[in-house]
Amino acid sequence: MMVFTKNMIEIRNILSKVGQSSTLTLPSIVVIGSQSSGKSSVLESIVGHEFLPKGSNMVTRRPIELTLVNTPESTAEYGEFPDLGLRKITDFSSIQRTLTELNLAVPDTECVSDDPIHLRIYSPNVPDLSLIDLPGYIQVVGQNQPLELKQKISELCDKYIQPPNVILAISAADVDLANSAALRASRRVDPRGERTIGVVTKMDLVDATRGAVILTDKQYPLRLGYVGVVSKVPSMTGLFKRDTGNLMAAISRNENAFFSAHPLEFGPEAGVNVGTITLRKKLMNVLEQTMSASLQTTGDAIQQELEEATYEFKVQYNDRPLSAESYLAESLDTFKHSFKQFADSFGRPQMHEILKTTLDQRVLDQLAARYWNKPIADLSVPPPEPDNIADLPKADPDSPYWHRKLDASASALTKLGVGRLGTTVVASAIQSNIDKLIDQSPFVSHPFARQAITEAASSILNERFYSTSDQVENCIKPYKFEIDIDEREWNQGRDHVGGVLKTELSHCEAAMKNLENAVGGKRKLKEVINYIDKARKGDIVVEGESRSGAGGFSAALLAKGREAVFLRDRADIINMRLLAVKSKQCKSIKNKYYCPEVFLDAVATKLAATSVLFLNVELLSEFYYQFPRELDVKLGRHLSDEQIEMFAKEDPKVKRHLEVIRRKELLELVLEKMESLRQLEGRDRVKRGRE
Ligand code: GDP
Repeated sequence: MMVFTKNMIEIRNILSKVGQSSTLTLPSIVVIGSQSSGKSSVLESIVGHEFLPKGSNMVTRRPIELTLVNTPESTAEYGEFPDLGLRKITDFSSIQRTLTELNLAVPDTECVSDDPIHLRIYSPNVPDLSLIDLPGYIQVVGQNQPLELKQKISELCDKYIQPPNVILAISAADVDLANSAALRASRRVDPRGERTIGVVTKMDLVDATRGAVILTDKQYPLRLGYVGVVSKVPSMTGLFKRDTGNLMAAISRNENAFFSAHPLEFGPEAGVNVGTITLRKKLMNVLEQTMSASLQTTGDAIQQELEEATYEFKVQYNDRPLSAESYLAESLDTFKHSFKQFADSFGRPQMHEILKTTLDQRVLDQLAARYWNKPIADLSVPPPEPDNIADLPKADPDSPYWHRKLDASASALTKLGVGRLGTTVVASAIQSNIDKLIDQSPFVSHPFARQAITEAASSILNERFYSTSDQVENCIKPYKFEIDIDEREWNQGRDHVGGVLKTELSHCEAAMKNLENAVGGKRKLKEVINYIDKARKGDIVVEGESRSGAGGFSAALLAKGREAVFLRDRADIINMRLLAVKSKQCKSIKNKYYCPEVFLDAVATKLAATSVLFLNVELLSEFYYQFPRELDVKLGRHLSDEQIEMFAKEDPKVKRHLEVIRRKELLELVLEKMESLRQLEGRDRVKRGRE
């Protein structure tokens, strides 16, 4: 029947991983007692090793859930802390140190914590038992301890001494049982004394007659009885202490000597239970019986819990199986699929569009700097010379002045570093498209995956950056010396630049609106503009603009006014140039000096078209080839199981889904194990019946 308790303890440990409902627990033996009642000594005499924290200052601050595993086929004795990943600790003083550290890690201000420490001890000399050691009850609160400590310890113990647990109530023989904190607590939750075992320690400290009376206590009779022990090893056997393997033998020898010296009180005729060996046997029997009794009820509770989990799985998740790996694999597939769609939709035309739009801005910059420049002077400076713009319609095709101006503008475009610029804008367009793809993918709620994907993209793009921009720069090199535009290109440019100018015009208008709002209305802005205009024409004399402003306008207002004047003039010029571009004059390439807008637009288109050919080969195709492979590396083979699990659980929805499945699996496993145990037990009963 040993196998039964062992299996039940194993089931109990699996159940503790299921968590949640308190109905899903199998019984354990909970050890309570006042400080110094001899609680640790009893536990150590059962285990046969000194392993519990020692010291005067509240050394047990957390529950210790102790699982003893009998290993008859091996001589090795060792402990394990499964939560800490500490395995096979054969040195029990090291277990003791770890326990002390874990306990002392609970800050003094809290003093106790209900977070249990899990410890398993494997040995051929221990019975299969599941014991929980709790902080000892205290009488008075120490100097550095919080006042409510007494209360906290008592509450913590109360949590554990609930059914179906068995209570091991430790009391010392030299203290009146009526004053035993352990028995008082047990009586509160087990008034009929049905699941409490009384342990009376320090039997050697009272005379034998008195001891025997205590063990047959009638005040608080216990169905499971009292056991008297002497669990302290006499100090002269310090030798035994060092050789802890003999602790058990030393104790029982010592106990034997003591109890057999009083045959009248403790002998077989006396009708009392004494000795650690007796206690161990009792614990085994009681635990087995209690476990056996809960087999049915806990089994039913588990069955019900399983039904609930199964229902939730069906209704919420449509019975869809899921594992962290499959979730990752599916997410990756979905992402790759959307990437494929993106790749099909983003090619040369799209890159051309992006690059051309960027170059359009550069064209506008050149036009503004070389043709449309109307600097707004300080108010105290005389107005500027008449603008070049006024000369444009009569630009003489033979004048070197206009030649130089157009050449300089075109060469500023070809030499602005198109290779770098083009590579940059295309690379960042790719990167931001990848970001968008992530946002629409299952990876959106996975910071870890998002980072991995973003890095996969940027590492490829960075790696290709320099060679691509060099290539592109090389290919447009001829245009730096000469650039020929044919009729077709001219007409295209003429069509296109009209749109660019209109867009620029609407930007000017929008900026003007913003200024109006900023200064508090159209009228106000108009007043400032009028003042600035008059000052520029010299209609009014401005005595040097001071910090506080001029003409009754604050300096800030004047600054806004100047911006407005600039925008208005820019808009005027653009309107004029729009008319020019549409005019007959600009229809023919022969008049290119009249129409720098069209010419520069055509140049920009040529630059964009050539660049895109090489961007496509050097950057985009390479990216399309490498990216999916890089994803496989980063989110596939290289991840450990823990990383995959962590990844999947980043998404709360997935986490819940995975947890339901795990819960279901654990419960199924537990039920299966319980069922086979029940069959085993049934067979046993039949066998016993036959005997
Ligand atoms: P805990 O605080 O309840 O864990 O108590 P301990 O097990 O640390 O014991 C408190 C003190 O009582 C220690 O000095 C033990 O050596 C001593 N002690 C424990 N059991 C016995 C016993 O059966 N007889 C005697 N004489 N002393 C004991």
